[in-house]
Amino acid sequence: MSKFVPRPFIIAGPCGVESREQIMAAAEGISRTGVRMLRGGLWKPRTHPGSFEGVGEAGAQWLRDAGKATGMETATEVANAKHVEVVLKYGIDTVWIGARTTGNPFLVQEIADALKGTELPVLVKNPLVPDPELWIGAIERLAADGRQVCAVHRGFYFYGESLYRNAPFWQIPVELRRRMPEIPILCDPSHIGGERSLVKSLSQQAMALGFDGLMIEVHPDPDKALSDAAQQITPAELAQLLGSLKMRGNSAPGAEAAAALDSLRSDIDRIDSSLIDLLAERMKISEAIGEVKEKSGLTVLQTGRWNSVLAKVRALAQEKDLDESFITEVFNLIHRASMERQINK
Ligand code: PEP
Ligand code: MN
Repeated sequence: MSKFVPRPFIIAGPCGVESREQIMAAAEGISRTGVRMLRGGLWKPRTHPGSFEGVGEAGAQWLRDAGKATGMETATEVANAKHVEVVLKYGIDTVWIGARTTGNPFLVQEIADALKGTELPVLVKNPLVPDPELWIGAIERLAADGRQVCAVHRGFYFYGESLYRNAPFWQIPVELRRRMPEIPILCDPSHIGGERSLVKSLSQQAMALGFDGLMIEVHPDPDKALSDAAQQITPAELAQLLGSLKMRGNSAPGAEAAAALDSLRSDIDRIDSSLIDLLAERMKISEAIGEVKEKSGLTVLQTGRWNSVLAKVRALAQEKDLDESFITEVFNLIHRASMERQINK
Protein backbone atom coordinates (compact mmCIF):
# COMPACT_ATOMS: atom_id res chain seq x y z
CA MET A 1 0.00 0.00 0.00
CA SER A 2 1.43 3.32 -1.02
CA LYS A 3 2.28 5.69 1.74
CA PHE A 4 1.44 8.66 -0.46
CA VAL A 5 -2.36 8.29 -0.41
CA PRO A 6 -5.15 9.32 -0.41
CA ARG A 7 -5.08 11.71 -3.33
CA PRO A 8 -4.28 14.55 -3.00
CA PHE A 9 -1.49 13.56 -0.59
CA ILE A 10 -0.27 16.78 1.02
CA ILE A 11 3.06 17.54 2.67
CA ALA A 12 3.34 20.99 4.23
CA GLY A 13 5.77 22.85 6.43
CA PRO A 14 8.41 25.52 6.43
CA CYS A 15 11.32 25.65 4.01
CA GLY A 16 13.62 25.35 7.01
CA VAL A 17 13.23 24.41 10.66
CA GLU A 18 14.31 27.62 12.44
CA SER A 19 13.48 27.10 16.12
CA ARG A 20 11.44 24.83 18.37
CA GLU A 21 8.72 27.50 18.59
CA GLN A 22 8.59 28.08 14.84
CA ILE A 23 8.21 24.42 13.85
CA MET A 24 5.67 23.83 16.65
CA ALA A 25 3.55 26.81 15.51
CA ALA A 26 3.76 25.60 11.90
CA ALA A 27 2.75 22.06 12.92
CA GLU A 28 -0.21 23.25 14.99
CA GLY A 29 -1.59 25.41 12.17
CA ILE A 30 -0.97 22.80 9.49
CA SER A 31 -2.43 19.85 11.40
CA ARG A 32 -5.71 21.79 11.75
CA THR A 33 -6.05 21.68 7.94
CA GLY A 34 -6.06 17.87 8.03
CA VAL A 35 -2.56 17.52 6.52
CA ARG A 36 -0.75 14.45 7.86
CA MET A 37 2.87 15.04 6.90
CA LEU A 38 5.05 17.89 8.18
CA ARG A 39 8.12 19.02 6.22
CA GLY A 40 11.07 21.04 7.50
CA GLY A 41 14.58 21.32 6.08
CA LEU A 42 17.41 20.88 8.60
CA TRP A 43 20.26 21.45 6.14
CA LYS A 44 19.55 24.11 3.54
CA PRO A 45 21.50 24.10 0.27
CA ARG A 46 22.22 27.78 -0.41
CA THR A 47 23.74 29.35 -3.48
CA HIS A 48 25.87 31.80 -1.50
CA PRO A 49 27.70 31.21 1.78
CA GLY A 50 26.55 33.33 4.67
CA SER A 51 22.82 32.75 4.06
CA PHE A 52 20.80 30.68 6.56
CA GLU A 53 22.09 27.14 6.12
CA GLY A 54 19.67 25.42 8.48
CA VAL A 55 19.90 24.53 12.17
CA GLY A 56 21.22 21.01 11.46
CA GLU A 57 20.94 18.16 13.95
CA ALA A 58 19.49 20.36 16.74
CA GLY A 59 16.34 20.80 14.68
CA ALA A 60 15.77 17.06 14.23
CA GLN A 61 14.44 16.74 17.77
CA TRP A 62 12.20 19.84 17.38
CA LEU A 63 10.79 18.50 14.10
CA ARG A 64 10.13 15.10 15.64
CA ASP A 65 8.50 16.66 18.73
CA ALA A 66 6.30 18.93 16.60
CA GLY A 67 5.18 15.93 14.55
CA LYS A 68 4.44 13.86 17.69
CA ALA A 69 2.55 16.69 19.38
CA THR A 70 0.24 17.14 16.39
CA GLY A 71 -0.05 13.56 15.17
CA MET A 72 1.82 14.22 11.94
CA GLU A 73 4.58 12.25 10.29
CA THR A 74 7.75 14.17 9.50
CA ALA A 75 9.96 14.66 6.45
CA THR A 76 13.29 16.37 5.90
CA GLU A 77 15.94 16.69 3.18
CA VAL A 78 19.06 14.52 3.17
CA ALA A 79 22.05 15.24 0.95
CA ASN A 80 24.59 12.69 2.24
CA ALA A 81 25.04 9.62 4.45
CA LYS A 82 25.70 11.76 7.55
CA HIS A 83 22.26 13.37 7.20
CA VAL A 84 20.67 9.92 6.91
CA GLU A 85 22.38 8.90 10.17
CA VAL A 86 20.83 11.89 11.98
CA VAL A 87 17.39 11.20 10.49
CA LEU A 88 17.53 7.58 11.69
CA LYS A 89 18.78 8.61 15.14
CA TYR A 90 15.82 10.95 15.72
CA GLY A 91 13.13 8.83 14.04
CA ILE A 92 12.17 11.17 11.22
CA ASP A 93 9.65 9.22 9.08
CA THR A 94 10.44 10.20 5.49
CA VAL A 95 13.30 11.88 3.64
CA TRP A 96 13.52 13.83 0.43
CA ILE A 97 16.42 14.16 -1.97
CA GLY A 98 16.85 17.81 -3.00
CA ALA A 99 17.11 19.00 -6.59
CA ARG A 100 20.85 19.69 -6.29
CA THR A 101 21.48 16.16 -5.02
CA THR A 102 19.31 14.26 -7.52
CA GLY A 103 21.65 15.40 -10.29
CA ASN A 104 24.64 13.76 -8.58
CA PRO A 105 24.62 9.95 -8.94
CA PHE A 106 27.48 9.54 -6.42
CA LEU A 107 25.46 11.23 -3.67
CA VAL A 108 22.22 9.49 -4.62
CA GLN A 109 24.00 6.12 -4.38
CA GLU A 110 25.60 7.12 -1.07
CA ILE A 111 22.15 7.94 0.32
CA ALA A 112 20.62 4.74 -1.10
CA ASP A 113 23.40 2.72 0.60
CA ALA A 114 22.93 4.56 3.91
CA LEU A 115 19.20 3.80 3.83
CA LYS A 116 19.69 0.04 3.20
CA GLY A 117 18.00 -2.11 5.82
CA THR A 118 15.45 0.61 6.68
CA GLU A 119 11.97 1.08 5.27
CA LEU A 120 12.07 4.87 5.07
CA PRO A 121 10.10 6.10 2.07
CA VAL A 122 11.98 8.58 -0.12
CA LEU A 123 10.79 11.58 -2.07
CA VAL A 124 12.95 12.44 -5.06
CA LYS A 125 12.84 16.03 -6.31
CA ASN A 126 13.58 16.53 -9.98
CA PRO A 127 17.18 17.55 -10.76
CA LEU A 128 17.85 21.21 -11.62
CA VAL A 129 18.59 20.36 -15.24
CA PRO A 130 15.55 19.39 -17.33
CA ASP A 131 16.73 15.82 -17.96
CA PRO A 132 14.16 13.09 -17.26
CA GLU A 133 16.91 10.42 -17.36
CA LEU A 134 18.74 11.86 -14.33
CA TRP A 135 15.48 11.95 -12.40
CA ILE A 136 14.56 8.41 -13.43
CA GLY A 137 18.09 7.16 -12.64
CA ALA A 138 17.92 8.55 -9.10
CA ILE A 139 14.50 6.95 -8.56
CA GLU A 140 15.88 3.62 -9.81
CA ARG A 141 18.82 3.76 -7.39
CA LEU A 142 16.53 4.46 -4.43
CA ALA A 143 13.81 1.98 -5.39
CA ALA A 144 16.32 -0.82 -6.06
CA ASP A 145 15.77 -2.44 -2.64
CA GLY A 146 11.96 -2.32 -2.89
CA ARG A 147 11.66 0.99 -1.00
CA GLN A 148 8.64 3.26 -1.53
CA VAL A 149 9.69 6.14 -3.72
CA CYS A 150 7.69 9.19 -4.73
CA ALA A 151 8.74 11.86 -7.21
CA VAL A 152 8.43 15.60 -6.53
CA HIS A 153 8.22 18.05 -9.43
CA ARG A 154 9.77 21.35 -8.30
CA GLY A 155 10.58 22.96 -11.65
CA PHE A 156 13.84 23.38 -13.56
CA TYR A 157 16.68 25.82 -13.75
CA PHE A 158 16.74 28.07 -16.79
CA TYR A 159 18.59 31.24 -17.66
CA GLY A 160 16.55 34.35 -18.38
CA GLU A 161 13.39 36.20 -17.41
CA SER A 162 10.27 34.27 -16.47
CA LEU A 163 7.15 34.49 -14.38
CA TYR A 164 8.47 31.52 -12.40
CA ARG A 165 11.50 30.95 -10.21
CA ASN A 166 11.91 27.53 -11.83
CA ALA A 167 10.42 26.64 -15.21
CA PRO A 168 7.65 24.04 -14.80
CA PHE A 169 8.30 22.20 -18.12
CA TRP A 170 5.24 20.04 -17.37
CA GLN A 171 6.20 17.68 -20.20
CA ILE A 172 9.03 16.30 -18.03
CA PRO A 173 6.85 14.97 -15.17
CA VAL A 174 4.41 13.83 -17.87
CA GLU A 175 7.28 11.81 -19.41
CA LEU A 176 8.17 10.42 -15.96
CA ARG A 177 4.55 9.28 -15.53
CA ARG A 178 4.66 7.56 -18.93
CA ARG A 179 7.94 5.80 -18.15
CA MET A 180 7.25 4.92 -14.50
CA PRO A 181 3.46 4.78 -14.07
CA GLU A 182 3.80 3.11 -10.66
CA ILE A 183 5.68 6.08 -9.11
CA PRO A 184 3.42 8.69 -7.48
CA ILE A 185 4.24 12.30 -8.35
CA LEU A 186 3.72 15.30 -6.10
CA CYS A 187 4.04 18.90 -7.28
CA ASP A 188 6.01 21.49 -5.28
CA PRO A 189 4.37 24.73 -6.43
CA SER A 190 6.39 26.78 -3.92
CA HIS A 191 9.76 26.23 -5.60
CA ILE A 192 8.29 26.44 -9.11
CA GLY A 193 6.56 29.75 -8.41
CA GLY A 194 9.05 31.32 -6.02
CA GLU A 195 6.25 33.69 -5.14
CA ARG A 196 3.27 33.00 -2.88
CA SER A 197 0.68 34.46 -5.27
CA LEU A 198 1.50 31.69 -7.79
CA VAL A 199 1.17 28.72 -5.41
CA LYS A 200 -2.58 28.24 -5.75
CA SER A 201 -2.81 28.28 -9.54
CA LEU A 202 0.22 25.98 -9.90
CA SER A 203 -1.39 23.56 -7.41
CA GLN A 204 -4.59 23.61 -9.44
CA GLN A 205 -2.70 22.94 -12.68
CA ALA A 206 -0.95 19.95 -11.09
CA MET A 207 -4.29 18.51 -9.97
CA ALA A 208 -5.75 18.97 -13.46
CA LEU A 209 -2.80 17.00 -14.87
CA GLY A 210 -3.44 14.14 -12.41
CA PHE A 211 -0.56 14.60 -9.95
CA ASP A 212 -0.95 12.58 -6.75
CA GLY A 213 -0.46 15.45 -4.34
CA LEU A 214 1.45 18.56 -3.32
CA MET A 215 4.43 19.57 -1.22
CA ILE A 216 3.85 23.15 -0.09
CA GLU A 217 6.04 25.47 1.97
CA VAL A 218 4.05 26.81 4.92
CA HIS A 219 5.43 29.09 7.63
CA PRO A 220 3.65 30.62 10.64
CA ASP A 221 5.06 34.05 9.70
CA PRO A 222 6.25 33.81 6.06
CA ASP A 223 7.68 37.33 5.76
CA LYS A 224 10.06 36.57 8.64
CA ALA A 225 11.20 33.21 7.21
CA LEU A 226 14.99 32.77 7.16
CA SER A 227 14.88 31.13 3.72
CA ASP A 228 12.46 31.29 0.76
CA ALA A 229 10.31 33.95 2.47
CA ALA A 230 8.60 35.16 -0.71
CA GLN A 231 7.11 31.77 -1.61
CA GLN A 232 5.84 30.54 1.77
CA ILE A 233 2.19 30.80 2.78
CA THR A 234 0.48 30.79 6.18
CA PRO A 235 -1.46 27.80 7.57
CA ALA A 236 -4.67 29.80 7.02
CA GLU A 237 -3.76 30.30 3.35
CA LEU A 238 -3.02 26.57 3.10
CA ALA A 239 -6.49 25.78 4.46
CA GLN A 240 -8.03 28.13 1.91
CA LEU A 241 -5.99 26.61 -0.93
CA LEU A 242 -6.86 23.03 0.00
CA GLY A 243 -10.53 23.93 0.37
CA SER A 244 -10.62 25.39 -3.14
CA LEU A 245 -8.73 22.59 -4.99
CA LYS A 246 -10.82 21.04 -7.73
CA MET A 247 -9.99 17.36 -8.03
CA ARG A 248 -10.32 15.13 -11.08
CA GLY A 249 -10.18 11.36 -11.17
CA ASN A 250 -9.07 8.67 -13.54
CA SER A 251 -12.03 6.32 -13.32
CA ALA A 252 -14.01 5.31 -16.40
CA PRO A 253 -16.42 8.09 -17.48
CA GLY A 254 -20.18 7.51 -17.80
CA ALA A 255 -21.69 6.27 -21.09
CA GLU A 256 -22.56 9.74 -22.39
CA ALA A 257 -19.08 11.19 -21.70
CA ALA A 258 -17.44 8.05 -23.11
CA ALA A 259 -19.40 8.40 -26.37
CA ALA A 260 -18.53 12.11 -26.62
CA LEU A 261 -14.83 11.35 -26.01
CA ASP A 262 -14.84 8.56 -28.62
CA SER A 263 -16.32 10.80 -31.27
CA LEU A 264 -14.03 13.77 -30.50
CA ARG A 265 -11.00 11.49 -30.39
CA SER A 266 -11.76 10.03 -33.78
CA ASP A 267 -11.84 13.63 -35.12
CA ILE A 268 -8.44 14.22 -33.49
CA ASP A 269 -7.03 11.00 -35.01
CA ARG A 270 -8.21 12.10 -38.45
CA ILE A 271 -6.59 15.54 -38.02
CA ASP A 272 -3.33 14.01 -36.74
CA SER A 273 -3.14 11.84 -39.80
CA SER A 274 -3.72 14.89 -42.08
CA LEU A 275 -1.02 16.77 -40.15
CA ILE A 276 1.44 13.95 -40.86
CA ASP A 277 0.48 13.95 -44.57
CA LEU A 278 0.95 17.73 -44.75
CA LEU A 279 4.30 17.58 -42.95
CA ALA A 280 5.50 14.85 -45.32
CA GLU A 281 4.41 16.92 -48.33
CA ARG A 282 6.09 20.01 -46.91
CA MET A 283 9.30 18.06 -46.35
CA LYS A 284 9.32 16.84 -49.97
CA ILE A 285 9.05 20.44 -51.21
CA SER A 286 11.77 21.45 -48.77
CA GLU A 287 14.01 18.75 -50.27
CA ALA A 288 13.42 20.17 -53.76
CA ILE A 289 14.27 23.65 -52.45
CA GLY A 290 17.43 22.15 -50.94
CA GLU A 291 18.49 20.89 -54.37
CA VAL A 292 17.96 24.29 -55.98
CA LYS A 293 19.99 25.94 -53.20
CA GLU A 294 22.79 23.42 -53.63
CA LYS A 295 22.95 23.82 -57.41
CA SER A 296 22.98 27.59 -57.20
CA GLY A 297 25.48 27.69 -54.30
CA LEU A 298 23.03 29.24 -51.84
CA THR A 299 23.32 28.62 -48.07
CA VAL A 300 20.68 26.37 -46.49
CA LEU A 301 19.81 29.02 -43.90
CA GLN A 302 18.13 31.99 -45.55
CA THR A 303 17.41 34.30 -42.63
CA GLY A 304 15.29 36.77 -44.61
CA ARG A 305 12.97 34.03 -45.85
CA TRP A 306 12.81 32.42 -42.39
CA ASN A 307 11.82 35.77 -40.83
CA SER A 308 9.03 36.22 -43.34
CA VAL A 309 7.74 32.64 -42.78
CA LEU A 310 7.70 33.26 -39.01
CA ALA A 311 5.94 36.61 -39.37
CA LYS A 312 3.31 35.05 -41.66
CA VAL A 313 2.49 32.06 -39.44
CA ARG A 314 2.39 34.24 -36.34
CA ALA A 315 -0.12 36.56 -38.01
CA LEU A 316 -2.21 33.55 -39.09
CA ALA A 317 -2.00 32.15 -35.56
CA GLN A 318 -3.37 35.40 -34.19
CA GLU A 319 -6.31 35.32 -36.62
CA LYS A 320 -7.15 31.77 -35.51
CA ASP A 321 -6.74 32.54 -31.82
CA LEU A 322 -3.73 30.23 -31.43
CA ASP A 323 -1.04 30.98 -28.87
CA GLU A 324 1.83 32.76 -30.63
CA SER A 325 4.61 31.13 -28.62
CA PHE A 326 3.10 27.70 -29.30
CA ILE A 327 3.08 28.32 -33.06
CA THR A 328 6.60 29.77 -32.90
CA GLU A 329 7.81 26.62 -31.15
CA VAL A 330 6.10 24.34 -33.69
CA PHE A 331 7.60 26.24 -36.63
CA ASN A 332 11.04 26.35 -35.04
CA LEU A 333 10.92 22.55 -34.96
CA ILE A 334 9.65 22.32 -38.53
CA HIS A 335 12.31 24.73 -39.78
CA ARG A 336 15.08 22.89 -37.93
CA ALA A 337 14.02 19.51 -39.36
CA SER A 338 13.73 21.06 -42.79
CA MET A 339 17.25 22.55 -42.64
CA GLU A 340 18.62 19.23 -41.37
CA ARG A 341 17.06 17.46 -44.36
CA GLN A 342 18.59 19.99 -46.76
CA ILE A 343 22.03 19.68 -45.14
CA ASN A 344 22.13 15.89 -44.82
CA LYS A 345 20.46 14.67 -47.97
C1 PEP B 1 13.34 22.70 -0.29
O1 PEP B 1 12.42 21.88 -0.44
O2 PEP B 1 13.33 23.57 0.58
C2 PEP B 1 14.44 22.68 -1.26
C3 PEP B 1 15.62 23.21 -1.00
O3 PEP B 1 14.07 22.12 -2.39
P1 PEP B 1 14.83 21.93 -3.79
O4 PEP B 1 15.84 20.88 -3.56
O5 PEP B 1 13.69 21.51 -4.65
O6 PEP B 1 15.41 23.26 -4.18
MN1 MN C 1 12.70 26.11 0.18
